[in-house]
Amino acid sequence: MALVTTRAIVLKSMRWGEADRILTFYSLQLGKVRGIARGARRMKSRFGGMLEPFSSINLTFFNKRNDSLGSISHIDSLESFSPLRESLEQIWAASRMVALVDGVTADRDSNPTIYHTLLEGLRSLVRTDDPALVTLIFQIHVLSQSGFQPQVDRCASCGCNLGEQSSLFSPTAGGRLCGSCDRGSWDYCLPMSQGSMAFLRQARRIPFARATRLKAAGQVRREVENIVETYARSVVGKRLPPKDVLAAEPAATPYGLTRKDVMTEK
Ligand SMILES: [Zn+2]
Repeated sequence: MALVTTRAIVLKSMRWGEADRILTFYSLQLGKVRGIARGARRMKSRFGGMLEPFSSINLTFFNKRNDSLGSISHIDSLESFSPLRESLEQIWAASRMVALVDGVTADRDSNPTIYHTLLEGLRSLVRTDDPALVTLIFQIHVLSQSGFQPQVDRCASCGCNLGEQSSLFSPTAGGRLCGSCDRGSWDYCLPMSQGSMAFLRQARRIPFARATRLKAAGQVRREVENIVETYARSVVGKRLPPKDVLAAEPAATPYGLTRKDVMTEK
């Protein structure tokens, strides 16, 4: 059992037993890890408010080799991202980011690029006046960084080169389909116009921090949002927290996140 210190971001926080919490982190050094914070729910817990989702921390924990649940020894706050908990729109945008990272990554599979994209994603959310667009670009980047890049240039089914004409995107196949694969497919597909293809290519070509300055509106925005959302859901296997905050109220456990998980809880 070794003591490990790494920078990390809190993805999920779950009550455990009488006074503890089980946390899921995305760490710079080890990728996704889970740990137990003993006594975290006591009034005078040494962890204070540092275990809330989206918090960026310096984490020290006992790393057990054959057990994915480490015991958290010490935490220092790096960035609390508390402004993200002040509006529902930002809470849900940040929730979609952490849920996607949780959904597309395996335990203890380190990917520093994803760690940095998540950190930069949360920072961009604090600054932006369009959280949904920042989240969309974040989704495009994290899907690509985790090996699920949406295929735009070749048919996702047979691999043939595709032209620039509008075509259909298959969330199950993970990309556009050529005419013959499309005719032979039973997949639920979504229309993809030339404008949407251009946006998707541009969004993933530019480094994430700069891509968040891209603009998208009207049909292209709706189309790309729809494609990326449906594809992400197909990859993760569950719904991500919905974009529509008000519609989200009754089904409060999409992707295992409850409103309690993302709101400040004492
Ligand atoms: Zn094909």
